[in-house]
Amino acid sequence: MKFYIIVLSLTLVGSCSTLRHTEKIEQLKENITFKDSQTVENYINTINKEELKEHVYAFSTDEFQGRMSGEPGHHKASKFIKDYYIKEQIPSPLGSKYYQQIPESYFSGDIKNSQNVIAYVEGGEFPEEVIIISAHSDHEGYTDTEIYNGADDNGSGTAAVMEMAQAFQKAALNGHRPKRSVVFLHLTGEEIGLIGSKYYTQYPVFSMRNTVANLNIDMIGRVDDDHKDNEDYIYVIGADRLSTQLHYISEAANSQFTNLELDYKLNRDNDPNRYYYRSDHYNFAQKGVPVIFYFNGEHEDYHEPTDTPEKINYALLEKRTKLIFATAWYLANSKNRIVVDQDY
Ligand SMILES: [Zn+2]
Repeated sequence: MKFYIIVLSLTLVGSCSTLRHTEKIEQLKENITFKDSQTVENYINTINKEELKEHVYAFSTDEFQGRMSGEPGHHKASKFIKDYYIKEQIPSPLGSKYYQQIPESYFSGDIKNSQNVIAYVEGGEFPEEVIIISAHSDHEGYTDTEIYNGADDNGSGTAAVMEMAQAFQKAALNGHRPKRSVVFLHLTGEEIGLIGSKYYTQYPVFSMRNTVANLNIDMIGRVDDDHKDNEDYIYVIGADRLSTQLHYISEAANSQFTNLELDYKLNRDNDPNRYYYRSDHYNFAQKGVPVIFYFNGEHEDYHEPTDTPEKINYALLEKRTKLIFATAWYLANSKNRIVVDQDY
């Protein structure tokens, strides 16, 4: 009998807290609304597959020689990104140089000095608080016979960041400047050990404390074997690990604007691939910054010289970019910044 009472009371305590938890989540979800959804829609629609295609092709050119960090091809690729921001009149928090230089001594092996490229649209109300949208710009270089063009890895992410920057800039010029600053960060040294993001998070341009979130993009232009029958998907990794709010903001952005299948399979704690730990966002997460990693999964051309631009699904790249844009818009314009409510 005594045993029964204990079990019963434990059950009651358990279900009460579950109920409270459910109520809390429901309330949190209700509070996430895009107040200016028509405005968001207007700027989402400036993101288009033709421009994304143009960027991916330009960035995957043989001239960049597979964009190995520190090599002339990657320097050219960095200049290509910088020139784009100058042409679009999107400034850099670093002034006219746009480059965060990383000295040769920071790299191991025989990698030479290299650079992250940084641009931003300054926030109107809380300019010191930043949302960082990132993609790595480097790749695997070349051999005697082949160039690793890396169209998906990571021409797709690079093009997405460029296109979102243009959309945020247009909005700002038309009187819809984001409340918080939105930073466009092109990272070097990812393929050789997440070095560009390690450097940035060690020597941040905006303090880590004021870095509200990092949305990191690495390969979003292709379809993996598991989704041949349903191409409208994206793997979302890490969204719920530090901030419950971030996960639900991502879901709300998707259900309102893009309706992709958000696949959380690779976000499982026990996933053997451990992608959460394998791209640049992880350096931000380690500093307590909530992150989302957007990824299409691996495919037959992953880290092969056959990762070329004609194999990208540009309509899908457009949809995925729109999802990330809507999520960034919310994070940059919400009344309060998102809260970290989980351990890291
Ligand atoms: Zn990559």
